[in-house]
Amino acid sequence: DLVDLTVGGLLALRAAELPDRPALVGARHGDGREVRLTYAELHAEARRVATALLRLARPGDHVALWAPSVVEWPVVQYGAAIAGVRLVALNPVLRDRELEYALRHSGSAVLLHADRSRDYDMAAVAGRMAELFPGLTVVSLRERDRWRADEADEALLAASPTDPDLPVMLQYTSGTTGNPKGVLLRHRSLVNVARLTMEHVGAPAQAKVVSPLPMFHTAGCVVSVLGPLWSGGVVRIIEQFVPSVVLVHLRADEPDVLLFVPAILGALLEAQRAATEPAPRLPLVMGGASNLPASMIEAAERVFGASVLNIFGQTELAPVLSATRPDDDRQDQLTTVGHPLPQVEVKVVDPVTGAVVPAGERGEICARGYQQLVEYLHDPAATAAAVDGEGFVHTGDLGSMDARGYLTVTGRLKDLIIRGGENIAPAEIESVLVTHPDVLEAAVLGLPDERLGEQVGAVVRLRDEREGLLESLRTHARDHLSPHKVPARWFVAEALPVTPTGKVQKFRLADQLRAGGIDGLREL
Ligand code: ATP
Repeated sequence: DLVDLTVGGLLALRAAELPDRPALVGARHGDGREVRLTYAELHAEARRVATALLRLARPGDHVALWAPSVVEWPVVQYGAAIAGVRLVALNPVLRDRELEYALRHSGSAVLLHADRSRDYDMAAVAGRMAELFPGLTVVSLRERDRWRADEADEALLAASPTDPDLPVMLQYTSGTTGNPKGVLLRHRSLVNVARLTMEHVGAPAQAKVVSPLPMFHTAGCVVSVLGPLWSGGVVRIIEQFVPSVVLVHLRADEPDVLLFVPAILGALLEAQRAATEPAPRLPLVMGGASNLPASMIEAAERVFGASVLNIFGQTELAPVLSATRPDDDRQDQLTTVGHPLPQVEVKVVDPVTGAVVPAGERGEICARGYQQLVEYLHDPAATAAAVDGEGFVHTGDLGSMDARGYLTVTGRLKDLIIRGGENIAPAEIESVLVTHPDVLEAAVLGLPDERLGEQVGAVVRLRDEREGLLESLRTHARDHLSPHKVPARWFVAEALPVTPTGKVQKFRLADQLRAGGIDGLREL
């Protein structure tokens, strides 16, 4: 059966059962000091945050959190959930244009922001947002007394909504038309995905979890924060992913579970190869977000003595659909993304006709269940395109389901680049590149990359070519796009291959690049 709880309700339950057990470990914003909170402390802190948020916004309002994975992140996440506001989880690397879009689109009432992340001056950007949006309350995480009340206000909190079917979070995901889409998720989805994922993979009770995943991703704030909450366990979150430092934590903490995306796991394996200290022993190492090569599973098993589990899903599914398990057959662990979570229906359909294909045959993977999005905010057309008449979410992923119910992902229907676990919409980059004065047309595509899985490549058709063009293109891209979206390789084409209806044939460009280029296409 499904659990009928809000995120705040589950936290209250654990705080009552396990008040003195550790719940959360992470670095404080500003000075990086390590903070450890028990369940009682976390719950009390979250209620103080909820009180302050309800003085800045009303239940149902959007409250944007723009910060790296500091310890305040999950504290605010819980505070927002208790307050009944919807947390808008934003990537700390967003540039002005991107942040402005998310704030405008979500109609956020509050922007709660970090001052810095690495060398990025987030406070300056937040200041510019305050000028752009007169109605927006902009609060720095450093102004603790503005987002955290001295005392919880019982009456105020008692009035906040507690329906698990209400939305709790808005998550932006790469849109195929150029603008990111706001995925709205409910309490019930988050709580049940967290619980059923932990149960499905056989994580122990009171699991100790280390998560180097960014908090602003659903995988970060759901699987790595709420998963341990379900089990009454503790999570260590990591502000900045430095592989050798994470290895030190892993050796010291000896966690039951390490969460990963393939680029992170690859970097940890590489750092361990270079280390003189022995590798940490890790019973469960689980993650996904992009294709997980069998060779990486085998390497992590060898080095960490771990069961390595492959999790498949997407933000629209809060974000887990299926995962392999420690007792799966060897071949299934290496080549499939496992069995769907309990109580989720899956169908695989012919992408053209929509008809269900026979077991084992390839088609688009679709899912229906408690974890699916409420909607894409303010975008009924996108919602209607993603959710079919029977209520199934179309994932845009190609794959198959065998007669035993094991899923295999074989490709993508959607035009998407996945770089180090971060999804990137080519259309968004193209729309920025064509605003460069020398660019007539642009096509952006994923190029294979050993470390990151995929890398961003741009093919442009130019008005004319001039001195300093490459630098000028790079600067333009950096000014308007988050660093991970800035193309790593640039190509110039005399013409782009198009379909009769004028759409650029990316697959043909990709083939041409793989073949080492063709006449009229060269690298800058
Ligand atoms: P999150 O964004 O919350 O970290 P995520 O990466 O799973 O989670 P999205 O960013 O929405 O979610 O990306 C989802 C897409 O990533 C899927 O539709 C699929 O194309 C790809 N993907 C996710 N997990 C896997 C996996 N285990 N194997 C292959 N591809 C995957």
